[in-house]
Amino acid sequence: MLHRRPLLALLGGAISTTFLLSGCLGNPPSRREANQAAAIPINRQASAKLETGTISLGFIPILESAPLVVGVEKGFFAKHGLDVNLAKQSSWSTARDNVVLGSSGGGIDGGQWQLPMPQMISEGALTNGKKVQMVILAMLMSQGNGIAAANSVKDGNLSVDLRKTSPGFFQKFSQEEGRKFRASYSFPKANQDFWIRYWLAAGGVNPERDVELLTVPAPETLQGMKNGTMEAFSTGDPWPSRISNSDVGYLATTTAQIWKVHPEEYLAIRSDWVNKHPKAAVALLKGMIEAQRWLDKPENKTQAARMLSSRKWFNVPQSVLEQSLKGQYRIGAKATHESNPGLGPLYWSSDRGVISYPYKSLTLWFLIESLRWKFYPGTVDTIQQAQAINNRVTRDDLWLKAARELGLPAKDIPTSSSRGKEVFFDGTVYDPSNPQSYLNSLKIKR
Ligand code: CA
Repeated sequence: MLHRRPLLALLGGAISTTFLLSGCLGNPPSRREANQAAAIPINRQASAKLETGTISLGFIPILESAPLVVGVEKGFFAKHGLDVNLAKQSSWSTARDNVVLGSSGGGIDGGQWQLPMPQMISEGALTNGKKVQMVILAMLMSQGNGIAAANSVKDGNLSVDLRKTSPGFFQKFSQEEGRKFRASYSFPKANQDFWIRYWLAAGGVNPERDVELLTVPAPETLQGMKNGTMEAFSTGDPWPSRISNSDVGYLATTTAQIWKVHPEEYLAIRSDWVNKHPKAAVALLKGMIEAQRWLDKPENKTQAARMLSSRKWFNVPQSVLEQSLKGQYRIGAKATHESNPGLGPLYWSSDRGVISYPYKSLTLWFLIESLRWKFYPGTVDTIQQAQAINNRVTRDDLWLKAARELGLPAKDIPTSSSRGKEVFFDGTVYDPSNPQSYLNSLKIKR
């Protein structure tokens, strides 16, 4: 409060109590204060064995960051001796700028990322040539994302399989409206951009010719869909649920329908931090794995929703988050599907093995898809470059160490860095041992 005094003195008696109150309430507590409020003591014995007892991580208020929030709130990080300072990032570009600064420069050491942000920050492709080496340590969550469409295009009956439900729709839209169908995401050339491009192209729609793709901040999308500045939005929960709960739009498809148990967002940290603090990195992973296992249990979903709904975390109604966590989506223009537990976010177990482990075959896909759309010319121009970057940035040894120290059952500890062949809804196969054949099989690409 000390910093307010000069302002108060300046304004003197002209300032009203109401203003003061709302002004104070308008400032969210810092993470440090929130940690103290949670009153979960750091395990000092465990902390003494680490190279450092603290780390600063960025998060975006969407379900992908739930393992980090739960790790703090349930004391999983504290149990392993780590005081995790979670800092809310106003956008993906802010997170990128903060990781370039590092915590020593008032920024963050790492946190939650869409891919290939950590790879491209390492290569300087997102940072004006400044290379900040990062390592991908774990997957935060799978599924839980989707493509929402505005009610104004309800007659398009957009679904996962556009060839079946919406043939010719986008061409007709352009003819009738005199402009292209507009679709948005919150950050270009990363997850949400990949999902919408994959979906459109699989439906025979060229995302670079038949529609207009835009970057729009997530909080502006509901209004944008209402007033017609865009017809679709590729996004993470709770946004698809918010849209399908409102009278603004409908959920055309979930990402889980496009690619079951697909890779989504990841935990990645600056390499210099990890190299200096390898034991603390393992402690961080142990806390996160425990948080993911906790989030996986159906009986914990309500408590998780309550926790995440708090103003200091997501500031979204608990009921919306509970629906999202349980995968209770209303899908399609007719909103026929009421509950699809298999399509919701996954944090630990799946029929493709553990979610958390950073499979190199999955982190590679984002670089191969970057090649498909020529997103990062000069950095990712060949499969060999993609593989070399992937091998440098994705690191599984610390995850395996954490898993063993936690005493996880053998079935939960992968023995290969490849998850094997992946099959998309349209029958396309991504074989990580032969990315060229995947690229060859795609009809629409740049
Ligand atoms: Ca996402």
